[in-house]
Formats: sequence, C-alpha cells, structure tokens
Amino acid sequence: MFTALADYHVHTPLCRHATGWPTEFARRAVALGLGELGFADHNPMPASFDDWRMLREDLPRYFDEVEKARAQFPQLTIRLGLECDFLEGREAWIEELRGLGEWDYFIGSVHYLPDGAEVDNPKYVGRYRDGDVDAIWSAYWQTYGRAVRSGLFDFMAHPDLPKKFGYRPAGDLCRFYAPAVAALAETGTPFEINTAGWRKGCQEQYPARDFLALAHAAQVPLLINSDAHAVAELAAGFAEAVELAKGVGYTQTARFHQRQISFVPLP
Ligand SMILES: [Zn+2]
Ligand SMILES: [Zn+2]
Repeated sequence: MFTALADYHVHTPLCRHATGWPTEFARRAVALGLGELGFADHNPMPASFDDWRMLREDLPRYFDEVEKARAQFPQLTIRLGLECDFLEGREAWIEELRGLGEWDYFIGSVHYLPDGAEVDNPKYVGRYRDGDVDAIWSAYWQTYGRAVRSGLFDFMAHPDLPKKFGYRPAGDLCRFYAPAVAALAETGTPFEINTAGWRKGCQEQYPARDFLALAHAAQVPLLINSDAHAVAELAAGFAEAVELAKGVGYTQTARFHQRQISFVPLP
C-alpha cells in the first residue's frame, strides 16, 4: 500500500519540538516501503520570533541533514520543503525564502490569528474554554482563505486546525468550510489530509469528512500526510486516511518536485 503514497509533512529536531533526524525518517520510510519522503520543517523567520520553528542560521544544517539522508538512502526519493506560517503583512519573507533553497514545495499553514493568538498552542486553550470558539473559527477561516489566495503556497496544511482541542462551534460547520474550499478550487491549491488530528484531543483527522466531500466535489487535489514530529509517527494512520479519501470519491494524490505537481493513483 505504501509505495503509492508519500509523506511530505515531516519535522526535524531543528524546529525544537520534534525528534528524529532525516536519516532516521528515511530508514523508517524505506522499511515501510513509502513511495516518497518529504521534509517540511517550520519555516525560519528573519529574526527571533517564537520558540517552535527552525532558526534562520540552521537552514544550511537543514539542507545538509536532508542531503545526508539522500546519500544514505539513494533508493528513496526525498523531497525538500517547508511548512510556512501565513502572517499577513509579512508575505515578502516567504518570497525571500523561496530563493534560499532548492525547494520542492512550501506548505501553507495558519497557526497564528491576526491578533497574534495561536490556534493550536495549549497556551491559548483557555480562549476556547471561555466560549470564544465561534470568534476563533471565524478569524481562522478568514485568515485561511487569505493564505490560500496569497498564492505563496504549493499546498495547504491541516485545514480545520482550530478543532485540535475538541472545541467546535455548534451547527453545520460547512458554513466555515465552503468559502475555504472555494478559495482552494479557484486558485487550484491542493490541501492535505493530516493524520495528526487522530493523535490530538479532537480525535479526528484534519479536515473533517464534510470538508473532504466539498473539496472533492470542487475537484481540489489532495495529499495525505502525517505531520510526524517523531519517527514512529511517519505515515501514521495512512490506511485509514486512504479509506476516507476513497470514501468521498478521491482516486489520486498529488506529489511535488521542484514545485511541479503530478498525480499518483491511490492504492
Ligand atoms: Zn510542529
Ligand atoms: Zn502545522
């Protein structure tokens, strides 16, 4: 099953909250028979910013570690990417990052709301408990739509991230999903099924099945990724994710090489 799949959302210790170096992930990927492996650590910022991303001065080390894995496992295709935070007003930095490496893809993420709060950081979970759920979801999805339309990203990460701790607004959540799916469809931007949600409080993959169904109806391309922050998490939940994708009608997943998209049939 794994040969037809790639895992493109994998972190390294350089982001300061993950374990497992690229060679260790590559060894595991070969053991699993994974079709492709891609790294996408949290993007560096020009100056100190927060404590959960790669430092700018560590970029050369990132490239070296990925090269080391490529040299040690030549039978495995290894891609180079970044998971980039969309921060309004700071788009130029993402464009600058483009020129700093031989990237295969940039994943776009919304972890920060415009007011600076982080949707997935336990530090801010009190805001959900205080009943701010609707406001957080509205702010998040508006930002998500702007991130998609920025054109900065090759595909988008974990769509419904604000459900991480299990707090969801009442009623039909398609009112949040539909505008986001429209933005993806209009810009031709793929998104990922991110299996990390199964390891979080929400106990559900990102995004919810309703989002997936809307995205399939709008012909938005799909990837399946684990968001691994440890070697044991590589390709975690992929069998379930494939079933889910096929269940809403998907027949293929996207791959990237030097920012060019191609498609592989689902197993
Ligand atoms: Zn992370
Ligand atoms: Zn993320």
